[in-house]
Amino acid sequence: MSDNAIRVRDLTKTFGGKTQLFGRASHEVRALTKVSVDLKQGETLAVVGESGSGKSTLARILVGLETPTSGTIEIAGQSADDLRKQGPKAFGRTVQYVFQETVASLNPRKTIAQILETPLSLLAGHAAPERKSRMRELMQAVDMPEDALDRYPHEMSGGQAQRMAIARALAAEPDILILDEPVSALDVSVQAQVLLLLQRLKDELGLSYLFISHDLAVVEAIADRVAVMHFGEIVELEEAGRLFREPVHPYTQKLLQSAPRIAR
Ligand code: ADP
Ligand code: MG
Repeated sequence: MSDNAIRVRDLTKTFGGKTQLFGRASHEVRALTKVSVDLKQGETLAVVGESGSGKSTLARILVGLETPTSGTIEIAGQSADDLRKQGPKAFGRTVQYVFQETVASLNPRKTIAQILETPLSLLAGHAAPERKSRMRELMQAVDMPEDALDRYPHEMSGGQAQRMAIARALAAEPDILILDEPVSALDVSVQAQVLLLLQRLKDELGLSYLFISHDLAVVEAIADRVAVMHFGEIVELEEAGRLFREPVHPYTQKLLQSAPRIAR
């Protein structure tokens, strides 16, 4: 197995620019420009940048929700296209996605048990009796009481719903989690709890995280390495401690100066 969970080379994504309905040409937006980055096995790589810098586009391309304009992606040593061609199971057992609008991402008409059912059977391949015990294990893993399995997403707080989104992602037994602003919608005290939970799960399960955030305090708390994005380009990529101590790129320096800091 290669050392890299994900390997991205020269990834470019342009939105629009084609002639649209009624002949109106839409404005072209270059969301990513020649992005090259590796997510190493077992690390937390943070991608940080202001709103609109292309972070979510990168995440969405990695999980197949958008197609790149050009560039290559390898996941767990094979091309993302090849992995996807092997079917949803092969892909879903390798990479899972957790994002900010958690409550919206959980089906409002299903209980948590019903929501967990799908990845447990279709992706992890568990038979019915195993699924029940896996559900209980998952609830324990994300520090939720078992009776939450019978509740609906809207009956939960933002922090609880985020734990459920993490449980759903883990149900597939993936190696890699792509986390797009996973704590940005939460109160600071709840943020800290969810960050601790993510850290513990990563250590216990040997996961690799691509952790997207616009919030430097959050990044400083969780990242091993940090990639700084600015207008669709990675302008600096460095070990976290070093980046916060000695930012090299002027944009990184500007970001750090304008952000509230937490003690390290
Ligand atoms: P971030 O997550 O860093 O805030 P995004 O990746 O969401 O940034 O967006 C990067 C740029 O791409 C922005 O200019 C955004 O408006 C544009 N963009 C993102 N998705 C689309 C889309 N589906 N169609 C057109 N433009 C898009
Ligand atoms: Mg975003």
